[in-house]
Order: sequence, then C-alpha cells, then structure tokens
Amino acid sequence: RPVIWWIRRDLRLRDNPALRAAQEAGGPIIPLYIHDAQEETLGAAPKFRLGLGLERFAKTLEEKGSRLIVRRGDALEVLREVIAESGAGHVIWSRLYDPAATKRDAKIKEALKASDIKAKSTGGRLLFEPWTVDTKDGGMYRVYTPFWKAVRTRDVAELTAAPSRLAAPESWPSGEALADLGMDAAMRRGGAIVAQHCRVGEDAALAQLDDFLTERVSNYKADRDFPARAATSELSENLAWGEISPHRMWHLGAQAMQDGQPGAEHFLKEVVWREFAYHLMHRSPRILTRNWREEWDGFPWQDDPGDALQRWQQGQTGYDFVDAAMRELYVTGKMHNRARMIVASFLTKHLMIHWKYGLQWFEDCLVDWDPASNAMGWQWVAGSGPDAAPFFRIFNPDGQLEKFDPKGDYARRWLAEGQANPPETAMAYFEAIPRRWSLHPDQSRVSPIIGLKEGRERALSAYKESRNQS
Ligand code: FAD
Repeated sequence: RPVIWWIRRDLRLRDNPALRAAQEAGGPIIPLYIHDAQEETLGAAPKFRLGLGLERFAKTLEEKGSRLIVRRGDALEVLREVIAESGAGHVIWSRLYDPAATKRDAKIKEALKASDIKAKSTGGRLLFEPWTVDTKDGGMYRVYTPFWKAVRTRDVAELTAAPSRLAAPESWPSGEALADLGMDAAMRRGGAIVAQHCRVGEDAALAQLDDFLTERVSNYKADRDFPARAATSELSENLAWGEISPHRMWHLGAQAMQDGQPGAEHFLKEVVWREFAYHLMHRSPRILTRNWREEWDGFPWQDDPGDALQRWQQGQTGYDFVDAAMRELYVTGKMHNRARMIVASFLTKHLMIHWKYGLQWFEDCLVDWDPASNAMGWQWVAGSGPDAAPFFRIFNPDGQLEKFDPKGDYARRWLAEGQANPPETAMAYFEAIPRRWSLHPDQSRVSPIIGLKEGRERALSAYKESRNQS
C-alpha cells in the first residue's frame, strides 16, 4: 500500500528521516503538501519563500520519477481524502515544534491511528530532539553556555544520500496547481525583488555550505559582525524550509574544525543557538507571545506606537544603521544578525515600543522566519527573555556603525538619499515600497526620530521605575 509523505518544512531528499521511513515502509510514496490554515496565516515573505521552495522541490521530485501533490484544506480532512483516493495505509512526517503544529499533529496522529492508518512522525529538523536535553535535575536550560556544553559531544545522526528514484504509485491522487494557492499574493513588497536575493533549493544550499566552509569559515569569527562583508553562511533561509539539514552543517563544520579551520567551532556554536531556541520554545512556549520574565509585564511600553513604529518599519528613523538594515529587510527578506540586534534594540529601548511589534514585522518580512529563533532573538535584545542581554546594554546605532561599518559600505548600499549615484540596492528599496508611503530617493534624509542620549535615558529611567514598583 502507498505511503503518504506529508511534506511541511523538509524540502530535501538528503538527511531526511521522514523520507527514509517512507522508503523503509516499502510501498510507493506519495509526497503531499497540504496548504492548511497554519500555512495560510504565514507572514507575507515566509509564505512567498515557502512557495518558491515548493516549486523547486516539485521539480526535484519529478527528476526522481515522483511528483508533489498539492492540496488545500484542513490537514486531517485532506489526509483522509488522499488515503481514500490512493489506498494509502501509512502517513509519515517530519516534526515541527511550535505549539500550534504540535497540537494539530497530535490530533491527526490519534485520529489516523483510530482509523487503522499507521502514523509516524520523525526528527530531522533539529540535531537534538528538544525533550532529550535537560539539566541534571531534569529542568530546562535558561542560559546558552551550559546548553552548549551539554550537547557539544553528543552523537549527531549520520548523513544520508538522496535516493536515485522514489517509487511512484500506479495512479496519482488528484492535486491542484501550486500557483493556484497564490502564495505570492500577500507579497506586496516587490516579490520580484525579494526573489532575486533568495537562494532556493537543496542543491543551492549544499553549494553554499561548501563555499562557506572552503572560502569563508576561516575569517568567520573576525568578520561575522560586519554586515557589508559576506562572512556568514547565509543558510538560515534554507534551514527554515528544510532545504538543508542542521546535521550536514554540523558534520561538515566539525570536519572543517578537524582540518584546522579557525572559525569552524564558532560556526558550530551558532548552529547550536538555533537548537537552544527550540529548547526554550519547547520547554516554555510562552516565549512566543509573552514576556518570558514576568517582571517585564509592568514596563511602560509606548501605548500608541503608530508613527514611530511605522518610521522604524520604513527605514526612516534618521539613523543610518537602523534604516539601512530595515531597507535591506524590505528588499531582500534578509537582515544581518548584527543589524537585527541593533534595530531590535532601537525599537525596544530608544523608542520603547514592545518587542512583539518588532517580532511581528520580522515574521512578515523575513524569508528565514523561524518562530523559535525570532522569539528568542527579540526577547534576548529586549531583556525579557531567559538568557537576555541586560537592559542597560543599549546599542548606540551610530557607535555600532563606526565599529562594524567603518567605511560606510553597508549604509551606502541601502540609503539612496544624498548619494549622486546610488547603487541598485538602495534604489530597489524605492521600487519595492508601496506608493502610499510617498518616499523618494531624491528627498533628503529624515532627521533623527529621537536623540540617542534622550532615548537611552528615557528607557533607563522607565526601567528603573518599573523595577521599583515590581
Ligand atoms: P551564520 O552566522 O552562518 O550561523 C549559522 C546558523 O546558526 C544560522 O543559519 C542559524 O540557523 C544559526 N544561528 C546563528 N545565529 C543565531 C541566533 N542568534 N539565534 C538562533 N540561531 C542562530 N534566525 C532565524 O533563522 N530566523 C529568525 O526569524 C530570526 N530572527 C531573529 C530576530 C532577532 C531580533 C535576532 C537578534 C536574531 C534572529 N535570528 C533569526 C538569528 C540570526 O540573526 C540568524 O539566524 C542569522 O542572521 C542567520 O544568518 P546566517 O545563516 O548567515 O548565520
């Protein structure tokens, strides 16, 4: 009997335990993507990027004598329909860990089993299943370094090759055209521009890892904080959609470390930050929606963030580092890690706007959007997370620019105003934004939304006051 391989965030053939389990089940394989309510509510850029990934993966499957069946609707209902049409007796998928997906999947597993259909979920998205890592007394890790120490010598599942063919059923269940799902429709910010910056698919991701580990890893530690330098792996986008396994990054990174490449261990540590984010989300899902530290509930966030939030989103704060980064995000769907920390600090501290607004904007704009890493990143910068930066650590965006963009390359790349010949990147921003924003490259740069000293002092005294009251 056929096996349904329910594809969600694992758009790859290599190192894929769900696919391996489907092969081991022995029957023909039906790769199925279900566009259910959870997929429909993805932010604009993630949904658009998932659409690009699925389009590429459908071609990969065709090259293997298979095809991607695309259906829309409630996941359990769709599975039941496809089971009825195909006679499948088994459904296999790779786990997700956010509370909404976990709840849906548990319900589906139970319902399928009650109808005598085998249902199996596998790992594959993470190096370590989050429930397998705990402190000596069985609790969760709140701080990264002990987490790293607890996992760094663990065995990591071995890599597996792509199958040469996937067994096809005698007849395929019906499906709809991917294009009909309109996954690009929500992308009202120049989808064509963002797409140019995406690196889509498993082959592209593997080539990128190879390039990073041969050309760049040796300078990773020194250069990774400079946003104008192509110094990091840029693989978060592929990890988000499962186009590469963290296992491959781990094993090849460890090999580079053994070969004496400086920087490789630091890279492995970064990969484990993502694991830590999933550990936190699994152990305390409130990190996604509420201040992880409850004492933050009394902080006087600005009540009506409207205009200031909009200026931040539009890259119009008057601070070059913040504005360059926000425009990079709008044009490419990406943002450098150092820049993420600076824009997040500016929003939550200088502007005193609640981190949830920033988190939501990233959720709408990032092609590497990941619920766990995004929430951990925002709460870390805001100071409300478990392993958070102390509140008084308020990034000075101008000081950071001097340090990490000393020649002004990053700022010039993204800010057209005042440049005689702005580069294409800076101009692309004005092509991408909606006309109603009424912004033009020949305008002069806006003046700063708030003085750096004034914003810093306001935030610090609000913080002190809220602590005195709690
Ligand atoms: P590299 O430097 O090459 O690192 C390798 C891999 O390690 C990355 O691909 C990523 O998977 C992981 N990693 C590195 N740094 C972190 C980190 N701080 N937290 C978690 N994992 C990390 N990352 C996302 O993937 N999705 C998000 O939605 C996201 N939102 C963020 C929001 C904020 C406010 C902040 C401060 C950080 C956020 N990050 C997020 C983490 C980080 O910025 C990106 O993972 C990183 O910029 C990706 O670039 P890279 O692939 O070149 O990383």
